Amino acid sequence: MNNPFENALTQLSRAANVMKLDPQVHEKLKSPKKVHSASITIIMDNGSTKTFPAWRSQYNDALGPYKGGIRYHPGVTEDEVKALSFWMTMKCAVVGLPLGGGKGGIIVNPKELSETELEKLSRGYIQAFYQHLGPTKDVPAPDVYTNSQIMAWMLDEYEKLTGEHAPGMITGKPLCLGGSRGRDKATAQGGVFVLLEAVKKMDMIPNETTVAIQGFGNAGAHMAELLAVQGFKIVAVSDSKGAIKSANALDISALTAHKEKNSAVTGFTGTETITNEQLLELPVDILIPAALENQITAENAGRIKAKMILELANGPTTPEADAILFKNNVVVVPDILANAGGVTVSYFEQVQNASNYYWTDEEVMEKLQKIMITAFAGVWATKEKYAIDLRTAAFVTALERVGAAMKARGLV
Ligand code: GLU
Repeated sequence: MNNPFENALTQLSRAANVMKLDPQVHEKLKSPKKVHSASITIIMDNGSTKTFPAWRSQYNDALGPYKGGIRYHPGVTEDEVKALSFWMTMKCAVVGLPLGGGKGGIIVNPKELSETELEKLSRGYIQAFYQHLGPTKDVPAPDVYTNSQIMAWMLDEYEKLTGEHAPGMITGKPLCLGGSRGRDKATAQGGVFVLLEAVKKMDMIPNETTVAIQGFGNAGAHMAELLAVQGFKIVAVSDSKGAIKSANALDISALTAHKEKNSAVTGFTGTETITNEQLLELPVDILIPAALENQITAENAGRIKAKMILELANGPTTPEADAILFKNNVVVVPDILANAGGVTVSYFEQVQNASNYYWTDEEVMEKLQKIMITAFAGVWATKEKYAIDLRTAAFVTALERVGAAMKARGLV
């Protein structure tokens, strides 16, 4: 089995070797600063009680308050939450945000809960961890299967417990509670800005470029929509229930309506149903994993036909797969760069909350574009400098910043 935290540490070591990272910095970064755990018990609608294990991992805060989402998923583990919090540390650093890395998770299938149960669970999470959270301590956000409504309940619970308004304690909020314009599409939008830069480097032409997207949640569905507008041909997509492919470009707005109605992408007119595994191996130009970890492994990496993989998911490619893809000249635009648009607009949300002054869509987009393009250029230059893959280059870039902040603080 692929343990995401072990994978994360392998990625860290690869970058540390290339850049000759200070051994003390390397050692400190091998484990999270703190991992808080709790059991959240709620009364279910039928009167029974149920307990859900939950975590908040605070990995590193050298650059600023811990930052990162909360995941609700039946497959959550402590090691997964730790890995995700490490990746958040690297992600914030690679795009130059003054934030550290954290992550939370609850073992739960939220699709099996009623709205009332979901609200109790979300408030329960804040009751368990609120002392460790706050705008200057640790700032959660949405992740897999969490959304702006959950953030709203969490904000409300936090404000009730602390007795003061603190919109900056959480991001990804609804607009009416201090959310930022553009936050809902930010992960995908940031991915598009990065993808357009990568496409230029690889001499690809949008109208002639085919794309497969694994995952049709917040990141994947918005990505499909935005890329279609840019002229890319989305020929395959999937969700947790299955995948579809088509000989021609999919009509993304019709597909979104189909998914809303049927809670699945399968069965969409003019498409053939395939498996999620088959989708990864299609002969497309660009493959976009936008679901969960460990999708591209030593087992299937050799069969990937895409020229480029843009990771909107966190940790979709294992280190063994990375080595195979590098040998096969598949360019992997890594998660910590490709999906950093989400946390970047989360940072904008906090800035707006702190000044209590809100920006227009255009202001958000312009600032996001600048950050993503600058980050891509920096990572690409590092890749050229050391003749390494983009993931290692992104880690090197991030580690230079985190390492400098750790040393400036005094390591021990
Ligand atoms: N969950 C998102 C991520 O993995 C966003 C985190 C945030 O906005 O803090 O990047």
